[in-house]
Amino acid sequence: MSVGLSTHTLICGGGILGLTIARELVARGCNDIVLIEKEDSVGCHASGRNSGVLHAGIYYTPDSARARLCLEGNLLMQQYCRENGLPLINSGKVIVTSNPQQLATLHELHKRARLNGAKVDLVDEKQLAEIEPNARTFGQALFSHYTAVVAPGKILEHLQKELTATGSVKILFNTKFSGNKKILQSPIEEKYHIKNL
Ligand SMILES: Cc1cc2nc3c(=O)[nH]c(=O)nc-3n(C[C@H](O)[C@H](O)[C@H](O)COP(=O)(O)OP(=O)(O)OC[C@H]3O[C@@H](n4cnc5c(N)ncnc54)[C@H](O)[C@@H]3O)c2cc1C
Repeated sequence: MSVGLSTHTLICGGGILGLTIARELVARGCNDIVLIEKEDSVGCHASGRNSGVLHAGIYYTPDSARARLCLEGNLLMQQYCRENGLPLINSGKVIVTSNPQQLATLHELHKRARLNGAKVDLVDEKQLAEIEPNARTFGQALFSHYTAVVAPGKILEHLQKELTATGSVKILFNTKFSGNKKILQSPIEEKYHIKNL
């Protein structure tokens, strides 16, 4: 069934990106947002099914947007969880080697992580045993302090409630974006010279 829909801002998808973009827009004064989701609840796909690890920007190339945004996003999400009483495990993460040859890679990751602003330490086997008794490594391991674990489903649920409570965001479930021409009208059409979609 197709529905007539008029709104200032349409967001397609009720995953973590759709919901957090809506939140950011509301914070910047946008008060007429419709978010459509083809499933019957938020987070039915990647956002609700991942392991909930907040990565700390260790692996990405220094100075890349990915490295910067990964770390910033991690810290912002940790803050969001704390402020809203959502589950947050600040366990950190250990990266171990499975043979001595991998030590060179470990040192490279250490260098990269520090350049990216992630808080990391090279630890020896004794220190590793204190952090995680079940882990084994060859000589050294890398401990990432900022890596944390969250409950993705609870975050999405909380975001949904928060957005609905603002009165600025209407969330429509079981609603699939199918490329309706009318959604792409001016000024976007004019700006990009889109015709006969
Ligand atoms: C196996 C796996 C493990 C991962 N582990 C982690 C991790 O540990 N930590 C981490 O930070 N990231 C992890 N990720 C990445 C992370 O889950 C994704 O980057 C993130 O969830 C993407 O969010 P999204 O909102 O873009 O996409 P999605 O969560 O997929 O949301 C998109 C939404 O759009 C809806 N949709 C699609 N088409 C339409 C349409 N035409 N009309 C209406 N609605 C539509 C979908 O139903 C869906 O709900 C993992 C990903 C995978 C696949």
